[in-house]
Amino acid sequence: MSHPKNIQSENTWRKVLLGLGHFRSVLAITLFSILLSAVITFGIMTLLWWEGLDVLLKSLLVAVIVPAVVAPLASSFVVQLLFELEELQAQLLEMVNRDPLTKVHSRRYIMDCLEIESNRSLRSNEPMSLLMIDADNFKSINDSYGHATGDLVLQKIAHTCESTLRPYDVIARFGGEEFVVLLPNTTLLEACDVAERIRENVAGATIKSTDGAMISVTISVGISLFTPPDLRCMNLISNADRGLYKAKHNGRNQCAIALDSKQ
Ligand code: GH3
Ligand code: MG
Ligand code: MG
Repeated sequence: MSHPKNIQSENTWRKVLLGLGHFRSVLAITLFSILLSAVITFGIMTLLWWEGLDVLLKSLLVAVIVPAVVAPLASSFVVQLLFELEELQAQLLEMVNRDPLTKVHSRRYIMDCLEIESNRSLRSNEPMSLLMIDADNFKSINDSYGHATGDLVLQKIAHTCESTLRPYDVIARFGGEEFVVLLPNTTLLEACDVAERIRENVAGATIKSTDGAMISVTISVGISLFTPPDLRCMNLISNADRGLYKAKHNGRNQCAIALDSKQ
């Protein structure tokens, strides 16, 4: 699937230098500076101040030596900054697009994916499904075993969901103990199958609490379907949320579908 546009630069020169690596970038800039300096000096000396071949050769020598000394120092510093900037942008992107606790995608990321995928779905007339997952009675896990164990449980849920999904499905932590899964090109029947597999896998998993006790958790799942062209992508979330509410209301540890009246 296509991923949301990132915040990294589209600047071609920057991309070229990053592709070349530090040493070759410095070398390229130095050679370019020498060449430019020699051409400019040659132009000035021949067109404006022609004082003989001897002076021209001396001027050209200076025009080569000065950038040969200055350019590696200056460009090395600038290229180093460029690489550091790239690294910082990658870290920033990771912070924006990933949930730090569970390492699945962030809410922002999946909202961007949702827009991209719903447009794609509209163009290709393919269905798309969404799952809203919520840990059952999670507060009591925190209360009984502590917040740190609660965090381990969230990590386990995220990992179990992720390993049950196909590579092009997207999972994100939507909030506290809620996750959203986007299933591109997936019918309602297939989505129910995925949701049920996730639910079973989570219910069958065990987590070791911080004091060594083996605990388990269940989840409830709301399922919604995007059917182009008559559904807005935001309805996909509100419908899945209604499905989730139904699953909770019917006793938790189960999946429930919620569709629009038109579907
Ligand atoms: P329900 O089955 O109806 O969903 O009940 P619940 O207890 O799961 O739901 P409730 O909304 O009452 O409680 C959610 C809890 O999730 C409360 C909050 O402290 C906890 N929580 C939210 N984010 C985190 C987190 O990052 N780590 C931990 N350990 N707990 C969190
Ligand atoms: Mg909740
Ligand atoms: Mg809950």
